[in-house]
Amino acid sequence: MTRTASSVWNNCLLFIKDNIKPQAYKTWFEPIKPMKLAGDVLTIQVPSKFFFEWLEEHYIKLLRVALVRELGDNAKLVYDVRMENTYSNKKPHTVKFPSSNKKPFNSQGMTMPLQIDKRELKNPFVIPGIQKVKIESQLNPNYNFENFIEGDSNRLARSASMAVSNKPGGTSFNPLLIYGGVGLGKTHLAQAIGVRIKERYPEKTVLYISAEKFTQQFIDSVKANTRNDFIHFYQMIDVLIVDDVQFLSGKSGTQDVFFHIFNHLHQNGKQVILTSDKAPVDMQDIEQRLLSRFKWGLSAELAAPDYETRISILKSKMFRDGVEIPEEIVEYIAKNIKTNVRELEGVLISLIAQASFNRKEFTLSLTKQIVDKFVKNTKKEVSIDYIQKVVSKYFEMDVTTLQSKTRKRHIVQARQLAMYFAKRMTKASLASIGSQIGSRDHATVLHACKTVDNLTETDKQFRKYVDELTKKLTF
Ligand code: ADP
Ligand code: MG
Repeated sequence: MTRTASSVWNNCLLFIKDNIKPQAYKTWFEPIKPMKLAGDVLTIQVPSKFFFEWLEEHYIKLLRVALVRELGDNAKLVYDVRMENTYSNKKPHTVKFPSSNKKPFNSQGMTMPLQIDKRELKNPFVIPGIQKVKIESQLNPNYNFENFIEGDSNRLARSASMAVSNKPGGTSFNPLLIYGGVGLGKTHLAQAIGVRIKERYPEKTVLYISAEKFTQQFIDSVKANTRNDFIHFYQMIDVLIVDDVQFLSGKSGTQDVFFHIFNHLHQNGKQVILTSDKAPVDMQDIEQRLLSRFKWGLSAELAAPDYETRISILKSKMFRDGVEIPEEIVEYIAKNIKTNVRELEGVLISLIAQASFNRKEFTLSLTKQIVDKFVKNTKKEVSIDYIQKVVSKYFEMDVTTLQSKTRKRHIVQARQLAMYFAKRMTKASLASIGSQIGSRDHATVLHACKTVDNLTETDKQFRKYVDELTKKLTF
């Protein structure tokens, strides 16, 4: 029977599998490909330089025993290392590294000494020269659970975060991935976990870092030839919080190194917390193996807060700042700023600043001016379609009813109101309004506008309709 690289390697794998934990086997041995067998030299391909270093550092004895069983005392091992191209889009190429192990692999002749780092670890957060290695958590104590307001929009994410901070690494929420749009509290919540863990377990090493900063540090470490220090540094952490992982998109070198750090931490029961602006399924240009890791634990969404929650958030910030603002103003802000808690805060801060600098009262008109500045860019022109929808909904009918030929009084009234608002709020001509609202002519629209004007003057109930619809359409 002829031996091939595959047959030899498969036998080695059977032996290795029996001798290490399944998780470690999966991570470190499954990705290896047998490439070539020449005499007693087996060449295997590994996905990265880091991978090669890791095998050499942790599994060399095991590999040796396995190989010697298969190939005899003169067995040699050569790694084919796929090199990353962090800075270019060139196709990955491979570089050969002989195993460094002295016995029995050193007869190779081309031995490249493996430097197993005995120096003190470089901590990218410590200024060189400072002796004591103490990892600063980079946490902001102002982001905590106490001031994170709970609501339907964040209940799952918040309670999972609390569970993780009570038992870091000890829940199935590992990694915990918090995702959602901008300004919805991802950073706040992720930091709150870190802050709480530090309170409960002061001895644990917690680190908060943005994916952007992580990437920068990694690139710097490659340039400075301190990639190993970088990796070792991150592998010492008990609770790693990486904010905005979508930033890793398309950065395959950084993804690769993060993948290995992640595996190490996960295997050792360390907690990983990630945030992202989208769910894993929607992430682009993130390697599959990393995405699948992201899905291992729990992905919890932070949605836009509902009205009640927006009011509570505003009130809690007012309470914190010791200001009192009339209820109707708070309601106005909550009604108009809907999709971003940061903007909600921004309006409040500007309002407080304006009022105190100019010694003004908190008035609705001042609030309106400020809110307008915040929402101006996003405010879209009201369309005739939208007007018809709002009016129909207000009168509890559907749009086709509103447009129908019927002469029933309440339907006619609704149709006339829709025409009136279309004239007032859009730049469309009478003819165009008529054709869009049930194929009427311009004279009908003109008549509708006059009727609404008249009724507003004389009919109190009708005036109420106009007021309420104005509010619905403008806010
Ligand atoms: P993201 O990271 O999702 O863009 P942040 O965590 O930076 O958002 O949140 C934006 C601002 O909104 C922060 O000042 C944060 O404190 C505040 N915030 C968000 N959600 C809440 C909440 N549920 N309760 C209190 N403040 C919140
Ligand atoms: Mg953020």
